[in-house]
Amino acid sequence: MKTDKYIKNYIGGALIPPDSGEYIDNISPPTGEVYSHIPDSDESDIQKAVEAAERAFPDWSTCGVEKRYRILTRIADIIEQNLDDFAHAESLDSGKPITMSKSVDIPRAHANIRFFATAIMHFASESHHMEKNAVNFTLRQPIGVVGCISPWNLPLYLFTWKIAPALASGNCVIAKPSEVTPMTAFLFAQACEEAGLPPGVLNIVHGLGPKAGEAIIKHPKIKAISFTGGTNTGREIARIAAPMFKKLSLELGGKNPNIIFADCDFDKMIFDTLRSSFSNNGQICLCGSRIFVERPIYEKFKEEFVKRTQFLKVGEPFSPVTDLGAMVSQSHMEKVMSYIELAKVEGGEILCGGKPVEMEGRFEKGFYLRPTIIEGLDPYCRTNQEEIFGPVVTIMPFDTEEEVLEYANSVDYGLSCTLWTKDVSRANRMAEQIQAGVVWVNCWLLRDLRTPFGGVKNSGVGREGGLEALRFFTEAKNVCIKY
Ligand code: NAD
Repeated sequence: MKTDKYIKNYIGGALIPPDSGEYIDNISPPTGEVYSHIPDSDESDIQKAVEAAERAFPDWSTCGVEKRYRILTRIADIIEQNLDDFAHAESLDSGKPITMSKSVDIPRAHANIRFFATAIMHFASESHHMEKNAVNFTLRQPIGVVGCISPWNLPLYLFTWKIAPALASGNCVIAKPSEVTPMTAFLFAQACEEAGLPPGVLNIVHGLGPKAGEAIIKHPKIKAISFTGGTNTGREIARIAAPMFKKLSLELGGKNPNIIFADCDFDKMIFDTLRSSFSNNGQICLCGSRIFVERPIYEKFKEEFVKRTQFLKVGEPFSPVTDLGAMVSQSHMEKVMSYIELAKVEGGEILCGGKPVEMEGRFEKGFYLRPTIIEGLDPYCRTNQEEIFGPVVTIMPFDTEEEVLEYANSVDYGLSCTLWTKDVSRANRMAEQIQAGVVWVNCWLLRDLRTPFGGVKNSGVGREGGLEALRFFTEAKNVCIKY
């Protein structure tokens, strides 16, 4: 696997430049410097990719699940064998600690591919018998050419989570990674080539959202779109794609509550709350950014949480002792800083952090921010209602279950929620009433790839994960046979 100063598109089995010959600068967040260039693709590249995918579809969709399983498994093996190269590229491109790229992002990428490679071998559909009359069975067929668009926060992890089920179920794919973090998708294209994926089955087109991305959404031959990203982008995609009757899966933003009851296991809770607040610089859609703490333990929690947060090491991503690396871009860091300023205006008190970290030498121009805890805000203020997507959390006391449920559900989002309590009845009661697609009880980010994943309200439409993804990427046809 080789990185390159000039990233290439992967179309029809070949690594090629964009038709326009134009490139966009790719900035490395740890240093703030341009270190490579991304194809500035447009509808002409998308057209080429769709034509290649259409040529590949008849064979790929009928070659049998075992062949697809073998090729996908080979791709997963190649990623695993090149863990160091992939992890290095991911950290250089996104700013996340190398320890995270090596232990979370890249392992999850090959796990995604293996999961769907094997899942398709066992995927079955239903039959419905009408006694003494007829039998119905559901034929699940691939859709055709589908589009997969992913964000920058978990680049290869989310890119492969879409592509793997689409390919496993026999579709041909036009995929676009985020223009902010394109490098591992480029390495992934090389892994596909090496594994013998037939030309045109997967096409990776790089470029800007409103240009290359929108060309995918608008293309009449692309019949389904699996998108993960911001809520506003999802809204725009739905506006274009819904009147074209495309199948849509939209995984969008979040503003997740972390609800801590006084009866919880304090040590486990505080350990995981640090993770759920600041992992990947808080740039995970599932991070718990609103922390509600039952009043009897509020002061104890506050003291311990602030102390441990101040110990977290913000630094360059390649150091093994770094807890928080660089933020993904200057503009994103400025957005997050603007929310810290807003919180002050709204009456919040910054208990720790709130400022950039001054770095030296090579990393002087990188984007580093101290993890920030804010207290004293109203649950309904903008800081507590809008997605910040950075290392910024608010803490608030509460007195009753009803009160905290009201706070938790007061936002427009509904992606995930974490509950900390030893009371099983309460956990079940709350899980039923929380408006979210994922509820964690006494844990956070514990993922079983067989489970459904997605959000409610403005956090999205549809479910990924496990069989839900295979169902999304297939059309169900009922065949009724009378006897
Ligand atoms: P974004 O919406 O700006 O971009 C996501 C992708 O969409 C990128 O590849 C981008 O190029 C593309 N895009 C942008 N405009 C487009 C358009 N008009 N048409 C087609 N494609 C377009 O999101 P981001 O800033 O990259 O990611 C951060 C957001 O993603 C946060 O809101 C976060 O909560 C969300 N997210 C959600 C999940 C989830 O599973 N629900 C997971 C990760 C991130």
